[in-house]
Parts: sequence; C-alpha cells; structure tokens
Amino acid sequence: GGLPRFKNFPPADFTLAAERDAYPASIAKLRKTMGGTVPLYINGQDVTTADTLDSYNPALPSEILGSVCQAGVEEVDRAVEAASAAYLTWRDVAPEERAEALLKAAQYLKDNVHDMAALQVLEVGKQWDQAQADVGEAIDFLEYYAREMIRLGKPRRMGRAPGEMSHLFYQGKGVAAVIAPWNFPMAISVGMVSAAIVCGNPVVYKPAGSSSCVGRALVDMWKAAGLPDGVFNYCPGRGSVMGDHLVDHPEVSVIAFTGSMEVGLRIQERAAKVQPGQQQCKRVIAEMGGKNAIIIDDDADLDEAVLGVLYSAFGFQGQKCSACSRVVVLDSIYDRFVERLTEAAKSVKLGPSENPANYMGPVVDKAAQQNVLRYVKIAEEEGRVLVKREVSEDLKATGGCYVPLTIVGDITRDHRIAQEEVFGPVLSVMRAKDMDEALAIANSTKFALTGAIYSRSPRNLERAYKEFRVGNLYLNKPSVGALVERHAFGGFKMSGVGSKSGGPDYLLQFLDPRLVCENT
Ligand code: NAD
Repeated sequence: GGLPRFKNFPPADFTLAAERDAYPASIAKLRKTMGGTVPLYINGQDVTTADTLDSYNPALPSEILGSVCQAGVEEVDRAVEAASAAYLTWRDVAPEERAEALLKAAQYLKDNVHDMAALQVLEVGKQWDQAQADVGEAIDFLEYYAREMIRLGKPRRMGRAPGEMSHLFYQGKGVAAVIAPWNFPMAISVGMVSAAIVCGNPVVYKPAGSSSCVGRALVDMWKAAGLPDGVFNYCPGRGSVMGDHLVDHPEVSVIAFTGSMEVGLRIQERAAKVQPGQQQCKRVIAEMGGKNAIIIDDDADLDEAVLGVLYSAFGFQGQKCSACSRVVVLDSIYDRFVERLTEAAKSVKLGPSENPANYMGPVVDKAAQQNVLRYVKIAEEEGRVLVKREVSEDLKATGGCYVPLTIVGDITRDHRIAQEEVFGPVLSVMRAKDMDEALAIANSTKFALTGAIYSRSPRNLERAYKEFRVGNLYLNKPSVGALVERHAFGGFKMSGVGSKSGGPDYLLQFLDPRLVCENT
C-alpha cells in the first residue's frame, strides 16, 4: 500500500456553475445559524465563560458571527492540564495512526470546503477564491504532515559497526501552545496544530480574536477525525489577559506562534525564562512579519509585472505576511512602470468580499482600519501620492472597515513607510539607478520573508537568486500564494526563526530525537 504521493488541493474553478453557486448557498446557510455563543473546548467538553468577545463581519460590523467565550488563566490551566494528561498516551500512539487522524481531518475539510470558506468570507472579509485557497492550504498541510510523520516515524539504523545495533528515532516534545494570526485563519492554524498533533504533542490552541469562529471549526474537524479527548483544546482568549500565562506555563514544551514581530519577540523572551517546576527547555517556533519587495528590471515584461505587483500588494487588502509593500523600479523604466501601475490600480473595485466583482474588500477589523489609516498619513507625509482610492460615501455608510488603496512614490530606504510593516493596501514605490542598488534596497530592512523580481535578463535573475536574501524568492511570479511543499514557506532575520512550514524540516522542531544502542 502506502499513500499516494502528496499533491496540492486544486484551486477554485469558477468557470463551473456548481462552484459559483456554492458560495452564495454556503453564505446564506451560515447566516441562518451564526451569531450564538461559541464555547471553548477543553478535554472533549464545551466550556462557557462569562467573558465573551463578539466576532463581526468587517464589511458590516453590526453582523455578529459569534459571541466567543474568552479563556482566562483558569481555563488555560485546565486546558494545559488536559493536554499534559493526554500526552502520556498520545506520544506512544504509532506515527501511522496519528497520521491517519490528519488524513481524516483532511477528508472532513474536503467534504465541507465551501462552508469552511464561507466562514472566512464573512468573518475576515476574504474573497471567495482566496478563502478557498486558504481551506485548500489547510488540507495540504494535513496531507503533507501525515506523510512526513510516516517518513520520520521509522527508526533509522545508524552506522554498521559489528556487535551493536543503533537506532535513531523521535518522540513528541510535550504540550504545544499554538498561537495563531487571523489572516490565514484556517490554513496557518491547521498547519501549526496538525504538525504538533501528528508529532505526538497535544495542543492548547489560541486563535486570534477576529477569526475565532473559523478557529472553532477546527473542533468540528478534529471531532470528525476521532481525536482522543485532551489532544486538541480550543482556547480563544485575549492575548493581554491569558497570552503570557499560556507562554509562561511550566508544562508547555513547544510554542508555535505566527503573528507580528512584536508579539513573537516577546514570546521568545518570556519562553527563555525557566519557571518553578519546569522540567524542559521550551522550543519557540516563531513566524513573524515582512516588508517584502518586488524588483522591476528595465527589461521586465510590464504586463506581467503590473498584474503581479497589483495582486501581491492588494490581494486580500495587503493583509498577507508575503504581501508586496515595496516595489523597487529601475530608473530607466520607472516612469513607464508607474504610469501602468497607477492606471491599473485605478480600475480596482472596492466593496464587500462576498460579492466576487470586488477586487478589494474591508480590512479585518476597526483596529486594523485605524492602523492602516495612520500609515496612509505617514505615507502622504513621506512621499508623493500616486494613487489614493478614497472610500465612497456609500461604502462608508455601511460602517465597513474600508481603507483607501494607496500607492506612494519617491520613497527612499530611510522612510518609515519603507521599513515598518503596514499590513494593509499601502504600496511604496522606490527608484534604483541599477541592479546593485535595487538589490541593496530590497535587502535594506530587518525582515527577510518574501521577495520577487520581474526581469528577462538571465544574469540579473541569477544575481537575485544569490543576493536577494529572503526566505521565499519568486522569479517572474508574484511574492504571494505559497503552496505547501512546492513553496515551503518561512523567513529569517526578524521574519522568523528560519523554519519552513510545509517543508521537510518543519516537523523536526516539534520532536526530540532519541538514540538507542544495543550491544548485540
Ligand atoms: P498579532 O501578533 O497581533 O497576533 C498573533 C496572535 O498572538 C493572536 O492570536 C494574538 O491574540 C496573540 N497574542 C497577542 N498578544 C499576546 C501575548 N502577549 N502572548 C501570547 N499571544 C499573544 O498578529 P496578527 O495581527 O494576528 O497577524 C498579523 C501578523 O502576522 C503580521 O505581522 C504578519 O506578517 C504576521 N504573519 C506572519 C506569517 C509568517 O508565516 N511569517 C504568516 C501570517 C501572518
């Protein structure tokens, strides 16, 4: 037997009527059932709390997806205790059996793709195709990590010395705290959670506040997969109330975090401190922000480059860690490129993501809206505004969390807008006199996540390959849209600890290697 080779889940095909009709149907179905109390899930039981937080549709904030119960320190303790108890048996379940749970979870998502994606359309304002890609990526993580665990699960004979038999094998490190962002609400959560679980580590999962209803869907998924009680615990809560407590907990062995640099660095610092009763060194897997650049060479195919930059900068409103926020253009082509880019940006339609005619929707919540507006102001002060698509009065009247698509020129590397992650649809255009300077500008931030270059010159593509120092570099492709395995994903410098999610070294971070040598 054995499993068929890993393959990526196919993207949505909206040329098919069935695919187009599925979304309005799933969204209408969701609207009939949503809005109630969303409990925690600890040790196989729903748990309610007095403190709740409403998760709302950013296109229509009066529409509530759910009143999400919020874990305090007491619930965190209960969840960690349940996970600790489950660890004692889960770590010794055969790797193939743990992998089987992931394959069943993947099947559940495949059977419910549109319902899962519709949840994201309403909760975080994702476009249909992007929401479906997110669910597809979650499926990919499950399928890929299942295979990876089967590969790593076989003890490996070490050396061939006569008179001894040496085996290297792995065991799960212990309880994993998984702390997730809202922007790929299902994919990143499922990726981190399933990696921990398949390695034998029970999970206390904290979704982000603005995507906690998508997070709750993981409970249904793991129930369908038949996971034993205590192996997956759903624990939404306010980062400021329970985040530190979870990170500091002496019985947590692994912390898998994806989010901002500020929170990621705080977690690394706190996890380094040994707490009373703690018996192991904590491992922190932190994937953080980016300030990603696309270089436009003077011989680039401008049709491709303009579309690639537009999609990388403004797809899902620029709220991807891989989004392009700086475009570095060679001097001799600067004016032509900028003219084409601004023309294209002026035709982009803004409005609710549930209408597929809209290219750009609202940002995720009111706090994000305020943050982006602050950066639009900074951009206006620092550069020359090339495009600012003001939000129409009609859209403003809906109360939705819309922000203007903004492109600003004449930005240099010492500007704040060239250094700080905005996480919204704000793009800086920077001028370089030659490829040396373009590469220097591209590398001039503390981040190193993604990048791209559009060029027809083999020599410059080769230079970028060597000298454009980021975790994921794309030649003549957008900087976004990484696929599991084919584009194993993650950055270094202040973008992360250097691991690659969806790649062959990822699971090792959740495992302790053991070696047994027998005198024969
Ligand atoms: P965030 O850092 O604000 O929040 C991430 C998570 O941390 C949330 O669940 C939040 O509640 C929690 N948190 C907040 N304070 C905490 C504390 N003191 N202790 C423990 N947890 C705490 O990030 P976000 O706004 O959800 O996501 C956007 C950020 O994520 C961007 O910076 C983006 O670049 C980054 N990101 C990176 C990757 C990657 O793979 N490198 C992928 C997606 C997003």
